Amino acid sequence: MVIADPGFAGTAILLRSRGLRVVEQDATAVTIRVAAGEPWDEVVAGAVAAGWSGLECLSGIPGAAGATPIQNVGAYGQAVAQTITAVRVLDRVTGAVSWLPPEQCRFGYRTSVFKRSDRWVVLEVQFRLPRSPRSAPIRYAELAGALAVRMGDTAPLPVVREAVIALRAGKGMLLDPADPDTYSVGSFFTNPVLAPAAAATLVADGAAPPPPSWPEPGGLVKVSAAWLIEQAGFPKGYAGLGVAISSKHTLALTNRGTGTTAALLALAGEIRDGVRARFGVTLHAEPVLVDCIL
Ligand SMILES: Cc1cc2nc3c(=O)[nH]c(=O)nc-3n(C[C@H](O)[C@H](O)[C@H](O)COP(=O)(O)OP(=O)(O)OC[C@H]3O[C@@H](n4cnc5c(N)ncnc54)[C@H](O)[C@@H]3O)c2cc1C
Repeated sequence: MVIADPGFAGTAILLRSRGLRVVEQDATAVTIRVAAGEPWDEVVAGAVAAGWSGLECLSGIPGAAGATPIQNVGAYGQAVAQTITAVRVLDRVTGAVSWLPPEQCRFGYRTSVFKRSDRWVVLEVQFRLPRSPRSAPIRYAELAGALAVRMGDTAPLPVVREAVIALRAGKGMLLDPADPDTYSVGSFFTNPVLAPAAAATLVADGAAPPPPSWPEPGGLVKVSAAWLIEQAGFPKGYAGLGVAISSKHTLALTNRGTGTTAALLALAGEIRDGVRARFGVTLHAEPVLVDCIL
């Protein structure tokens, strides 16, 4: 979330509910229900320790379990939508509490029916996880490289968790009070999803390699926003007023100590406009903007 400098003139509810229980299990899989307030990384660590596969690539992501369906939290080729089988919600319009099946959650890349809607409060999340000491097939080239496995191969759960945490630490994507590169919302921009023809027209100046890209459903192509930002002239460390692109990760806009929301959004706007002028692609903010706009 990015909140306007004057603050939010309303009531914020912090869910403190805790608990993780196994509600169904057989030889091949477990179904777990996790309370919304459970710290997410503890859920992942617990799954890895128990030999439940499917969450290991989501190690080291800050926040609560109940927030993970909101933007279909994802990283390194995994997303919670791959293992969520139901979400228990309070409907603030009707007051009813019910379990929503995945199709009603309308999960997409960093989005769901819950994102930017104030209708739903997520109370509990249900996951079905294969019982396996090994990870789901590795679908992210950088992680496969770090593990020295081929794409589509698996690796022991704890090894994958450690590799993901190490990769995240190298990008300032693990919260560390001593490191200003971690004072961010994570990635500020989502990777744009383009038609193949539009993706094919993206060529950098000089001899730079083409943008990293990943296939999306419907024949679309997800293109690296970090590549677009760098090629448009915004390198790591590029600074605004008290804010800057992280020195470790182009997608993270960081507060260097004196940053304001106004300065952050000015920097984000400059980057978005620069990328649009250079490539004709409009980047979109990943965080929910509260009482402010980009
Ligand atoms: C260093 C860093 C790295 C990150 N890396 C990743 C990453 O790799 N992948 C990724 O997907 N995200 C990443 N994020 C973003 C963030 O961790 C996730 O979005 C996380 O789910 C936020 O959890 P939170 O509990 O802090 O939610 P908040 O930031 O408090 O809330 C986020 C939004 O969800 C809503 N919300 C939260 N909980 C509920 C609920 N129970 N019911 C209804 N609405 C709710 C809030 O109203 C708000 O709109 C990163 C963030 C940081 C700071």
